[in-house]
Amino acid sequence: MNRQQTELEQNEEAKRTAAEAREAHEEGGDGEEEEMEPKQKLRQILISAALLLAAFLIDRNMPGLAMWQRLLLYLVPYFAAGFDVLKEAGESIGHGEVFNEDFLMSIATIGALVIGFVPGGSPQFPEAVFVMLFFQVGELFEGIAEGNSRRAISQLLDIRPDFANVERDGAVEVVAPDEVRVGEVIVIKPGEKVPMDGTVLEGSSSLDTVALTGESAPRDVAAGDQILSGCVNQSGVLRVRVGKAFGESTAAKILDLVENAGEAKSRSEHFISRFARVYTPIVVLAAVVLAFVPPVLSGDFAANFATWLLRALTFLIVSCPCALVVSVPLAFFGGIGAASKIGVLIKGSSFMDSLAKAGTVVFDKTGTLTKGVFEVTTLHPEKISEKELLHLAAHVERYSTHPIAVSLRNAFGNEDDGCEVEDVTEVAGQGIRARVNGRTVCVGNTKMMDAVGAVWRDCGEPGTIIHVAIDGVYAGHIHISDVVKPDAAEAIASLKKLGVRKTVMLTGDREKVAARVAGELGVDAYHAELLPADKVRNVEKLLAEKTGPEDGTLVFVGDGINDAPVLARADVGIAMGAMGSDAAIEAADVVLMDDKPSKIARAIRISRRTIAIARQNIVLAIVIKIAILILAALGLCPMWLAVFGDTGVLLICVLNAARTLKA
Ligand code: ADP
Ligand code: MG
Repeated sequence: MNRQQTELEQNEEAKRTAAEAREAHEEGGDGEEEEMEPKQKLRQILISAALLLAAFLIDRNMPGLAMWQRLLLYLVPYFAAGFDVLKEAGESIGHGEVFNEDFLMSIATIGALVIGFVPGGSPQFPEAVFVMLFFQVGELFEGIAEGNSRRAISQLLDIRPDFANVERDGAVEVVAPDEVRVGEVIVIKPGEKVPMDGTVLEGSSSLDTVALTGESAPRDVAAGDQILSGCVNQSGVLRVRVGKAFGESTAAKILDLVENAGEAKSRSEHFISRFARVYTPIVVLAAVVLAFVPPVLSGDFAANFATWLLRALTFLIVSCPCALVVSVPLAFFGGIGAASKIGVLIKGSSFMDSLAKAGTVVFDKTGTLTKGVFEVTTLHPEKISEKELLHLAAHVERYSTHPIAVSLRNAFGNEDDGCEVEDVTEVAGQGIRARVNGRTVCVGNTKMMDAVGAVWRDCGEPGTIIHVAIDGVYAGHIHISDVVKPDAAEAIASLKKLGVRKTVMLTGDREKVAARVAGELGVDAYHAELLPADKVRNVEKLLAEKTGPEDGTLVFVGDGINDAPVLARADVGIAMGAMGSDAAIEAADVVLMDDKPSKIARAIRISRRTIAIARQNIVLAIVIKIAILILAALGLCPMWLAVFGDTGVLLICVLNAARTLKA
């Protein structure tokens, strides 16, 4: 009890020091500035609202004021409410862009201030201030909504480690994670977050991976295991050798991805930016026409100009498409956040478009549909001992990252016996070759045996078979077996339920194994004994078979070992994040953090929902804008109602967009 308490206290202490270290490390404090924005804006709005009220009361109680005196009176709240908007507008004229919202708002309100001086025009002083004020209220909402989503996502992804306990000169120091170098040893106590990716040197524990994968089942780790940053250490103390710098580690990469997910833009986002480019000038032009043409046509320009000018100014207020410009990207931002919550990283909203329309899903077998953890079941040596066969195979595989290599190494155990392994050449989709104590040893499938002229023997057993040849002479084979992932069948079934027309499995493994796995999982088609180039060809054939948009997109799912080229070729490439190679994670558009193929269907569902919400916003905003424009042209919509409606749509759209965050 006592010990636990001191340990807890130490923990707290460590967190405090680390927090201080972090604070000292961060120079600018950008984050704080963002937090302050809405507060400042709120203060500005409240002050200018009070000034507007004061001006209004003075105006009411002093009926003798001249027009210019009234203007001066209202200019006080006007500048209080809009000084920053006016400044931005001035700057944008300098840059030659006249169609931004600040500029349009400035023109509209200045117009409202001077319309009283136009012959026949009634003064609109309070209205002008009110419009500016409400525009600022809209900006405030915008800021809050964006800040909220960002915060919600970072809370969802509570994976940013605050500190690391690093062993230096025999003592443990608490430092900010980005100060730890690759190769240093860190200590992770129970209850602490794993600060960076690495390999366990000592200790065993179970890790809570919920923040990374959305899955609450704890993962047991012991010496030799790779662990990912962002997990929480639950039970034992772990000593870990740091494998990747903080910025390269999983946690930092995920946060980076989510924060910058806007790079590859979705079609809806492209649509609104194109729409804004066309719509705004059209409305501005319409406003100019509205101000001048009807009064000219009426024959009595002087008598009618003020009326139509007011309508034109109302047009300008509605001309800014902010509801769309803000809410649609916000919807995708939330969708990407929702996907990360279940351990699916989507690298840009355009991939949500493609995922939502998935028509064909192609899977790699080993490491994707199967666990990629092979067990050696039987050894069939020829002229050498069983032990020597496995020994040779394990040695040749010493430097390979292929799942088969890892399994053979694990099966052999003691590797460190002074044998010399040189000239290692890995032939993708075939196997691996090396010189062991002066002899050339080939380890791989029948293609590899044929290539060196070894006469191989087939094996009746159903699993994967690894043949071995020494100096071109056949030395026997090792029979290994893999198991399908527990959720693989469900993954295929749920994709079909979502309307995916075709599922295909591609593998470099034997026909027999492929047939068995394909049958077990219910995939529609499979192709076996493929080299990496054959996989690309197969995918290209499937892409060519598509005749129209109704066929949907082609999704390829792989672990990147011997299939990185296909990941890049497909409409959407999905890589395994935990088992997958770094190259695959780079090449992929979507990464499954916990390697579970069943997450694909869930990601498709999230994508469809996100797109539906973005579309609702587009339709709602456009319909309401057009309605306000028509009413304004008919003179049925006063200025304050226009800005009220405009901000209202913005608010509804932003709230609607925030729904995508919920998975
Ligand atoms: P998959 O397409 O199922 O993911 P791969 O393309 O990675 O399979 O490998 C195809 C086949 O090539 C394996 O089944 C194995 O027979 C052989 N092979 C590839 N790499 C190795 C290796 N490092 N050691 C032994 N055999 C290998
Ligand atoms: Mg593979």
